[in-house]
Amino acid sequence: MVQEGRLVYPLSAIVGQKRMLTGLILLAINPKLSGILIQGAKGTAKSTAVRALAALLPEIEVVRGCHYSCDPDNYGELCQNCLEYLAKGQCLPKTFRRVRIVDLPLSITEDRLVGSLDLSHAVMFGRRKFEPGLLARANRGIIYLDEVNLADYQIVNTLLNVATTRINIVEREGLSYTHAAQFILMGTMNPEEGELRPQLVDRFGLCVTTNGV
Ligand SMILES: [Zn+2]
Repeated sequence: MVQEGRLVYPLSAIVGQKRMLTGLILLAINPKLSGILIQGAKGTAKSTAVRALAALLPEIEVVRGCHYSCDPDNYGELCQNCLEYLAKGQCLPKTFRRVRIVDLPLSITEDRLVGSLDLSHAVMFGRRKFEPGLLARANRGIIYLDEVNLADYQIVNTLLNVATTRINIVEREGLSYTHAAQFILMGTMNPEEGELRPQLVDRFGLCVTTNGV
């Protein structure tokens, strides 16, 4: 199976790890379960399973060119750009694409995650404009954070908050922007490399442990 140019190992070919596979499938069925935390030693197919699941999900219909992957038939959750487009009496251009998997680097900053003020736009045009972050890119897709136990506490906290509310609200230097941020949150970690704070573990909807086969 090939996704975004890379070869994906099929989910059904993973040996054992029944609990992890069940957890991933439950999350695919109901993304409102607010994420899955997969704990296990190196080499227990944690990352492989996450990518394999993404490759199995059906294509979604999105507004072509929209930074937030708006659903063209869901008028209640359109971004401001799509709403402005509609207000001009134009039809939203539609296209189908695969569900996106957004890998969060451990070094990610809060601004890069939630979005920030587009400074170059502000300087050039004297107007404030929102620069979408990775939460916008992940809307209606998957966020994958490997080594979640080593990530910044504030980043994981923000991720879990947005995974629950399904809305990203950004307030920066007098700019206020809100957009839908509905994603399946998948975190993996090796407990030998350090624990995740219990208050964060508690907030993942599902937690599973993988074992070496
Ligand atoms: Zn949109």
